[in-house]
Amino acid sequence: MPFNALGLSPIFNAPLLKNGFTHPTPIQRKVIPLALENKDIIALAQTGSGKTASFVLPILHALSSEPARKKPTLKALVLTPTRELAVQVAEAFSLFGSTLAQPPRVVSIIGGEGLGEQMRLVQQGCDVVVATPGRLLEILQKGQISLHHVKTLVLDEADKMVSLGFTEALESLLHVLPSARQNLLFSASYPPSMQTLARTISETFLWVSEESTPTVEHLIQRAFKVDAHNRGPLLRHLLTTHAWKHVLVFMANKRAADNIAAKFYKHGFNTTSFHGNLSQEERTKTLEAFKNHKVSLLFATDIAARGLDIKGIECVVNFDLPRSTEDYIHRIGRTARAGHGGESITFVTPENHAHFALIQKRCQTAMVLESISGFESTTPNASQPKGQAPLKGKRKSKKDKLREKAKEA
Ligand code: AMP
Repeated sequence: MPFNALGLSPIFNAPLLKNGFTHPTPIQRKVIPLALENKDIIALAQTGSGKTASFVLPILHALSSEPARKKPTLKALVLTPTRELAVQVAEAFSLFGSTLAQPPRVVSIIGGEGLGEQMRLVQQGCDVVVATPGRLLEILQKGQISLHHVKTLVLDEADKMVSLGFTEALESLLHVLPSARQNLLFSASYPPSMQTLARTISETFLWVSEESTPTVEHLIQRAFKVDAHNRGPLLRHLLTTHAWKHVLVFMANKRAADNIAAKFYKHGFNTTSFHGNLSQEERTKTLEAFKNHKVSLLFATDIAARGLDIKGIECVVNFDLPRSTEDYIHRIGRTARAGHGGESITFVTPENHAHFALIQKRCQTAMVLESISGFESTTPNASQPKGQAPLKGKRKSKKDKLREKAKEA
């Protein structure tokens, strides 16, 4: 996959190639498209993963469409724990930004170097500041820098910043930054202190990690052919015939997750639901309860599909099919983690068997559709729609359907 397939402007092709960046690394593949969509992201990534380019390129991409200016205003702020890292990041901006019509003005604000010179450079105007928190705060307190136009905040090696005691300085900086901004947080680990900080930064973080698709040695993928109305009874049957104690079930939407959790609760299962309508506090509580085995069956929407690292999930069930292959891979990746075994079960109904065939094709897997006695599907498969597949998220309107009918008549 080339870099420009991620949505980046082709102006980066030349500097990328010149620096030997022929293909994006896994973290770049995951972060760049989301960052270009202006999402808030927590990326669990180690040094050496290529994390720098995964935020530098989207920021430069955004800068490339800025109107011509005489004196630039500060639009992106990158905070790093060390001077060395700040310098490296600033170099990456200059390296990849060289082909922009207005190459970005990047200033490093780091301790141990002349304060006066750094203030002078800031006063001249800059697009990007790469800074260590302490020195930036010092300049801010002198009233020598304005953060009011910052659109993107990056915390690079955030866990290290926290462990080095920068939390207070970070909080002071967060106070003066505009609240409408994009937040990109890169961290090698996610200790509780980081979680607290992350919560003060954004409530809508998407999780991204370097993890790859689980390997088949550890994960058994199964699929059951079942009629839609029989999925609940089949799931109850599977849960009672297996000795699973920790099962994550994916549902298509929040309402479905709530409804089925209520039904299973009535049937005596130790269960609840997890989705985006819950407050952050409820989400944290629910996840803690699931992690600590106080809840053994969790019905969740796709917000639980990405990044969640819960140890010991024995089985992931796709009660409803995921919309995309990516989502399928993320969902099943919640089990069989860190060398442990796990199972994924997908319910395939006559209505969605064609969609499932497509997911399998894209994952390059070929599962046998199993049937369980007493739950066999009796409905014929829905015929595959002819012509072009509808765009994801775009249903035909009544007018479209009428127009089609008129054409056929
Ligand atoms: P980082 O994790 O961002 O510090 O990057 C680690 C090293 O990998 C740096 O030397 C980068 O220049 C290099 N690097 C990052 N992304 C790529 C890529 N897509 N292709 C080749 N080298 C890369």
